Amino acid sequence: MSFDGLNQVIQEKWGFPVLRPLQAQAMRAVLDGRDSLVVMPTGGGKSLCYQAPAVYRGETTVVASPLISLMKDQVDGLRACGVAAASLDSSQTSEERSGYEMDLRQGALNLLFVSPERLVNPSFQGLLHKINVRTFAIDEAHCISHWGHDFRPEYRQLKKLKERFPEASFHAYTATATERVREDIIAQLGLRDPEILVGNFDRPNLTYRVLPKQDQMRQVQEVIDRHRNEAGIIYCIRRRDVDDLTEALKQLGHNVRPYHAGMDAAERRAAQEAFTQETCDLVVATVAFGMGIDRSNVRFVLHVGMPKSIEHYQQESGRAGRDGLEAECVLLHSGRDYVTWEFILNKSVEEARSKAAEMRHTAEQVDSEEEADDLRRRADEVEPHPDFLPGAIKHLKQIANYCAGGVCRHRALVEYFGQKFEEGNCAACDLCLGDVEMVPDAVVLAQKILSCVARVKEGYGVGHVAAVLRGQSDERIVRLKHDQLTTFGLLRECSLVDIRHYIRQLLGQGLLLQVGDEYPVLKLNEASWAVMKKQRGVRLVKPAKQRKEQGPARSKADDISWEGVDRDLFDALRGLRRELAETRQVPPYQVFSDATLRELARVRPSSLEAMRLIYGVGDVKLRDFGPRFQDLITEQCQARRLSRDNATGPKLAEKPRSTTPKAVNERGNSYEWFRAAEGIDDVMKRTGWSRSKIVGLLAEYIADEKPPSIAAWVSNATVRAVKAAAAKVGTDRLKPLYLHLGELV
Ligand code: ADP
Repeated sequence: MSFDGLNQVIQEKWGFPVLRPLQAQAMRAVLDGRDSLVVMPTGGGKSLCYQAPAVYRGETTVVASPLISLMKDQVDGLRACGVAAASLDSSQTSEERSGYEMDLRQGALNLLFVSPERLVNPSFQGLLHKINVRTFAIDEAHCISHWGHDFRPEYRQLKKLKERFPEASFHAYTATATERVREDIIAQLGLRDPEILVGNFDRPNLTYRVLPKQDQMRQVQEVIDRHRNEAGIIYCIRRRDVDDLTEALKQLGHNVRPYHAGMDAAERRAAQEAFTQETCDLVVATVAFGMGIDRSNVRFVLHVGMPKSIEHYQQESGRAGRDGLEAECVLLHSGRDYVTWEFILNKSVEEARSKAAEMRHTAEQVDSEEEADDLRRRADEVEPHPDFLPGAIKHLKQIANYCAGGVCRHRALVEYFGQKFEEGNCAACDLCLGDVEMVPDAVVLAQKILSCVARVKEGYGVGHVAAVLRGQSDERIVRLKHDQLTTFGLLRECSLVDIRHYIRQLLGQGLLLQVGDEYPVLKLNEASWAVMKKQRGVRLVKPAKQRKEQGPARSKADDISWEGVDRDLFDALRGLRRELAETRQVPPYQVFSDATLRELARVRPSSLEAMRLIYGVGDVKLRDFGPRFQDLITEQCQARRLSRDNATGPKLAEKPRSTTPKAVNERGNSYEWFRAAEGIDDVMKRTGWSRSKIVGLLAEYIADEKPPSIAAWVSNATVRAVKAAAAKVGTDRLKPLYLHLGELV
């Protein structure tokens, strides 16, 4: 197997000059026929991991995918790059299906997308056996797990697949980062000694902002104004909120569509299509608007209510900026959201319980024992797990703490998923950008709260502690004699809401604990004592105060990715893209992504050869779209005297931050850069690592992969000199070689 060949395929078909972190390792697992589980955040580039090896090997890889819209999207995207791909699904006519089956039999397809139901169908499996399929990819693999956020019972059947195809390798892909889901995927699919690759969960191109909900309409309008002519999704908790907000935005003249599970299927499909085809840029939705959306240039995701867990937030906000360009995720929250979720959760548990009871009752009445068994089994499935409600409430608390927290948002998210965050200042969240006002004497404030928790003997919850600090002499406080504590009324100048907000921030930073499920109480930990002894600092954010009158600061990502881009040309290119997409009946981002358009509007290539070097321009796209874009660029450049063939700009998407979380990733990443023949100086610039470290990694790379040429790092003259010296003094020991070569090396 040669990575050169694979890289060439990727360059030719997709026009990507470098691989993203972990892609190379994930592809290697496919080529080696070793089972794998690949966990990467949304937009991380999971699809390429199974697509490129399939094209390179010229064999059929079968992909299980949960939704027809997702399959269609992948197939369209692959065909636009000149890759032979098809899906078999229920929306097709039987002629279409038999046509694709024929292609499959003849080995003419590199990728075949199917639903899990079809994949477990015995006659379909017979066909796959006949053509000797040896690679299966399971997309959105978390759908197999109860613990995930998108459980689909039909995924469970995939378990049998491994038994039917013991020789084949299975590759599971998901963006869900929790350990439990990961383990479940491996167990359910029966993966054998899988290569487990977990990517870095930080999304540096996203700017996170969390604001208390004050004047919702004004806040929504501000976000939309910041993203004129760009795509955005607004998430609400309830359907009713979706309808209300859609109406209000329509009144203000916005072209906006609602989306929730209460609408009929045709309406929902129309909304989704309008969004994907870019005829509508704004969707107001519940979480039902999810997995099927593949539009990569979503520039903002706005939550007007708190999501129900950090996992959900990661999923939903993660739909922004899949193209790697800057995007904004704004979360508006209030204490009411928590109560709303609590209500919804309780209600759903009650409903599920009574449904299960009803099924069991029916089971008693039916004659057929088989039917009764089936009903009982289904009732067991419907019955909520006893862990469900406490688990869900815990998740709610975690996201509430995140909202209140004074911790860098990137850090909080990444650490929640068990990874380290090494940047001091992310420069891409409300806290690090200085959007919010800090409490000047946070340590003193924190000490007051913590000592009150100590005074009430760590036996009371947030509400009670806040009331004592506020100095409220209500009946309970008087009865418990808490009005006689020294901490009573210590924060009289703050409102109850503010005190709760500070307590939640302390919880969010791990400086205080909340213990117990039904009536959780506040407890101190080591970190609390460290704060009380002034051994560690605290950062607290003033609630509800947006400092900047002129709106929030721009993120680093924002500035970088527009650097040198001619905006008018970009808009013109977007127009042409829409026109071409309409003619071809594909979503516009499948013609070229926004990242490619910006690169074109920055570099302004003067020939097709020069355009070929632009990120995202593969051979087939160059042939199909190159000339039209070329003409438009020439026309605009002449009319406005714009320079041509500028140097390519900083491609944010492909430049990880200066630190990577783990040594393994460092090695993996460096291998990818070396495969792309990046020089030592470039890697130094990119990473900030020392020269000796990079040289060490390079040596490992050369020993491991034996690349055909090392000319990118060592000149031919040096190679010749070293070879000559080696011939004379041997290679057993290095020192004689050094001495022999004198100053050359
Ligand atoms: P995921 O499935 O992980 O959410 P995708 O596979 O949809 O992500 O990839 C996200 C985007 O990144 C797509 O537009 C894809 O073409 C692009 N992409 C993937 N790999 C690379 C790469 N090595 N270089 C540049 N762009 C890439």
